Amino acid sequence: MINAKLAAQSHPSQQTIVKLTETVSFGGEEIVIIGGPCTVESLEQMETVAQNLAVAPVQALRGGVYKPRTSPYAFQGMGEDGLEILTTVRSRYNIPVVTEVMSISQINMVAAHADMLQIGSRNMQNFDLLKALGEVNKPILLKRGLAATIEEFVMAAEYILSHGNPHVVLCERGIRSFDNYTRNVLDLGAVAALKQITHLPVIVDPSHAVGKRELVAPMARAAVACGADGLIIECHPEPEKSVSDARQALSLSDMVNLVASLKPIATAVGRNISESIGVDLKSAPIFCAA
Ligand code: PEP
Ligand code: MN
Repeated sequence: MINAKLAAQSHPSQQTIVKLTETVSFGGEEIVIIGGPCTVESLEQMETVAQNLAVAPVQALRGGVYKPRTSPYAFQGMGEDGLEILTTVRSRYNIPVVTEVMSISQINMVAAHADMLQIGSRNMQNFDLLKALGEVNKPILLKRGLAATIEEFVMAAEYILSHGNPHVVLCERGIRSFDNYTRNVLDLGAVAALKQITHLPVIVDPSHAVGKRELVAPMARAAVACGADGLIIECHPEPEKSVSDARQALSLSDMVNLVASLKPIATAVGRNISESIGVDLKSAPIFCAA
């Protein structure tokens, strides 16, 4: 038994709804899809993503501006300039944005620009950061640690809840194992377990789990089939040119096709893929990629 007083589900019907906007919530009937590049690279890139994903549709855009990179010499993200880009795209296209916060000192700045704060795998047990996020009035997307047990994952969520923020969404993103053919191993058993152990919404990131674009769509479909409340998927206008995680990035047209393919699966498990576009195309300028 996991001793999570606040995160534990007390009854099978107990399900927390985490509101992202007035019209988009995690944990209800609708599957929430977040799409976008690993890293924010330019305004043009994010405009192209927003324009193209409008037809999918996706309910939120992702894009990292503070990037946890294995090498200190790799691009670390655009920082505040990237946040400005997210804010511009957010207001121009009327779509919520999700981005990672890596340290306590970044919280206020990121919370002023983003609708949801992502805690990356590498920070899942950064307990001071988790405590500080408990004081934030924004939804938190908590990603499972690279080698975290289900219990450690739930207890990480418990840190945020017990420090005052009830708006936590869990994200299974694959765990390390012996086989490196796929980047990680997508633990769909954990998704089913978390849905029973906790009342929190659970979404899946198939991109970091498999690390290869040709494996992303089947795993996204499997995630919806096994009860995930949403997906976060990396895609890019020119996947091979992505500054980070290029190998796993979908093209924007593949992303649109993937979302369409999820609909019958969602229906089969009593869920919906939202038809509502989070983007107001009428007021959005038409961007033409060079
Ligand atoms: C990401 O979402 O780009 C990311 C770095 O994910 P993770 O923390 O799951 O590796
Ligand atoms: Mn990435």
